[in-house]
Amino acid sequence: MEFAFDSRTARLRTELLDFMDTHVYPAEAKFAEQLAGLTDRWAWDSAPVLADLRAEARRRGLWNLFLPGAHGAGLTNLQYAPLAEITGRALHLAPPALNCAAPDTGNMEVLAQFGTAEQKQQWLTPLLDGRIRSAFAMTEPDVASSDATNIATRIERDGDEYVLNGRKWWITGAMNPNCRVFVVMGKTDPDADRHRQQSMILVPRDTPGLVVERGMEVFGYDDHDHGGHAQLTFTDVRVPAANLIAGEGDGFAIAQARLGPGRIHHCMRAIGVAERAVELMCARAEERVAFGKPLARQGVVQDWIAESRVKLEQLRLLVLKTAWLMDTVGNKGAHTEIQAIKIAAPRTVQWILDKAIQLHGAGGLSQDFPLAAAYAGIRTLRFADGPDEVHKNSLARAEIRRQADKRGRR
Ligand SMILES: Cc1cc2nc3c(=O)[nH]c(=O)nc-3n(C[C@H](O)[C@H](O)[C@H](O)COP(=O)(O)OP(=O)(O)OC[C@H]3O[C@@H](n4cnc5c(N)ncnc54)[C@H](O)[C@@H]3O)c2cc1C
Repeated sequence: MEFAFDSRTARLRTELLDFMDTHVYPAEAKFAEQLAGLTDRWAWDSAPVLADLRAEARRRGLWNLFLPGAHGAGLTNLQYAPLAEITGRALHLAPPALNCAAPDTGNMEVLAQFGTAEQKQQWLTPLLDGRIRSAFAMTEPDVASSDATNIATRIERDGDEYVLNGRKWWITGAMNPNCRVFVVMGKTDPDADRHRQQSMILVPRDTPGLVVERGMEVFGYDDHDHGGHAQLTFTDVRVPAANLIAGEGDGFAIAQARLGPGRIHHCMRAIGVAERAVELMCARAEERVAFGKPLARQGVVQDWIAESRVKLEQLRLLVLKTAWLMDTVGNKGAHTEIQAIKIAAPRTVQWILDKAIQLHGAGGLSQDFPLAAAYAGIRTLRFADGPDEVHKNSLARAEIRRQADKRGRR
């Protein structure tokens, strides 16, 4: 078992840590200021400071690190994991600066893996270049969308076109006018087998009949700093048949393929969020004095700090093991571990953020520290890419099967 970074990862890590110190952290306040001054508050990726960061990231070879294969940096999951963690320390600035932000990452993976040459040229190339952004539209207000077979939006063939009708919500990034294309999941054949009814199709933003209705809020945060979460209506939206991704009935399988890497990326970044919270917690504990001594000398505070460190180290090991499994036995073979980290990461990081907020007093709940916004963001991870309960059900079923097999072998 090898715990050290390989030479490429070590080199990229050094470069990225330097980029964070010299460019990203110093730009955080400027980014917030420029966002507040935008005419269209949703056009977050037009903030000039982001363009500067992107140019610098490209110059340093820190671009599209998430994407394996020829289209991206070609890193393994195990190589990307420690880098994604570092970007989580400045969650709303570092991932887009490196062109490694969701949901574009997942959409680029889908296009790289399943797109036709034309689809790649039209959408993958500008996405890889960071010129446009995209959204992934699966969840619907009218059905329990944690069960993807419930998705009801219709995609019906009509000559050389497909016609879409339906409603979506919580579509991340879609309030941004530069979100130029939507990867939409819907039903092409409601009578087919349960997992062959769905297809995925590309819908350009300007297509008539597609209306961006409103932005959803998370505990009052509209998340305009990464394009919000939109509710959309599709009314007789017509797109060329060539916009279908892979074949009719392949939508469910593509969604599964998309979610494996997406989930681990979220977990890696979440560890970075928690590391920054521990840093803030320790600094505050040392400088703040109550009842005659620094908070750092209160046993309960020491307990929070020690528990945070133990939980974080445990979580990181599980995430890295999962990354290694994805590289060695594939996403399918790592399914159980991907579910385990998707359950463990938000829960662990939420616990640490809660303690960091508590230690900061009322200030911790406010806009003066990044903790409250991080807490809201991490809480949403217990739904996004599948609620905890769905992952637990499936993990438990797999464990029960595994134990039954073991008993059968005796
Ligand atoms: C901030 C944010 C961003 C998002 N971004 C996107 C996006 O970009 N694109 C997109 O398509 N979607 C997005 N989503 C939606 C997210 O993927 C869904 O909310 C999630 O899949 C759950 O679907 P639902 O909300 O319809 O919950 P439902 O399916 O209605 O489930 C409600 C609850 O029922 C319980 N439940 C469900 N199934 C089971 C089970 N098998 N066993 C036990 N309990 C169960 C769970 O507690 C679950 O939370 C986002 C959500 C959030 C909060």
